[in-house]
Amino acid sequence: MSQPFRIFRRSDLLTECEECRLPVNLSNAGACMRCRRVLCHPHLHGSFVRRLIVDLALAQPICLRCRDGVNA
Ligand SMILES: [Zn+2]
Ligand SMILES: [Zn+2]
Repeated sequence: MSQPFRIFRRSDLLTECEECRLPVNLSNAGACMRCRRVLCHPHLHGSFVRRLIVDLALAQPICLRCRDGVNA
């Protein structure tokens, strides 16, 4: 109960993109609404335009793979 703030920041720093394995934080990454993977912006959105649409809350963040219809 003591420092919830600290825990939040820590999980922030330890995230990595599940495609390219580069370390990411929540300012340059997001989670796919469908497969729940955490991905960097290029792997999550694919294009700057798409990212803009998601940022404006006009669409949910769905990763490239899910949008391509690759559902195992
Ligand atoms: Zn990536
Ligand atoms: Zn996905």
